[in-house]
Amino acid sequence: MDLRSVRRRCEVRLRELDLPQPFTTQALARSLAERRGRPLRLLPKGAGGGPCGVWFALDEADYVFFDGTTSGLHREHIIAHELAHLMWDHGTSEVIAPDVVADLLPDLDPATVRRMLSRSSYSTVEEQEAEVLASMVVQQAEVADRAAAEPVSSDPEVQRLGGMLQRRRGPRG
Ligand SMILES: [Zn+2]
Repeated sequence: MDLRSVRRRCEVRLRELDLPQPFTTQALARSLAERRGRPLRLLPKGAGGGPCGVWFALDEADYVFFDGTTSGLHREHIIAHELAHLMWDHGTSEVIAPDVVADLLPDLDPATVRRMLSRSSYSTVEEQEAEVLASMVVQQAEVADRAAAEPVSSDPEVQRLGGMLQRRRGPRG
């Protein structure tokens, strides 16, 4: 499987997504939860043990943990990577040790933990799909946020006309 075809599939998937504006990974998580009809919880975790981000699909909700010690774009990217696994329906599980799971979800029944961990980890292609889609989402979101923040022109007359045109085009543009 070459990276070109991964990129192509990610571009298609990205076009299907209605990225929330202004974009935050929290807003993206909310819209994914709505679409899936399942609660999705984004929770910070400590830096130690296991990967930067983890997604667990439990019966009652999806849990996405991210390294709470990171910030800014790096954090957004970690969360977007996990959400991308969700968007691709990859099934849950980065490679992770049982004691790390017990730390993150202490109330979880040990049998559930064993079932979760019996799954094999993501394939290389799945990792590429998540990584490429995450990059595209973050990049696209930055572009969209900038476009939304900047007026088309500083000329008040042009701005007035632009506003009128936008209203006429309706809410979905
Ligand atoms: Zn991954």
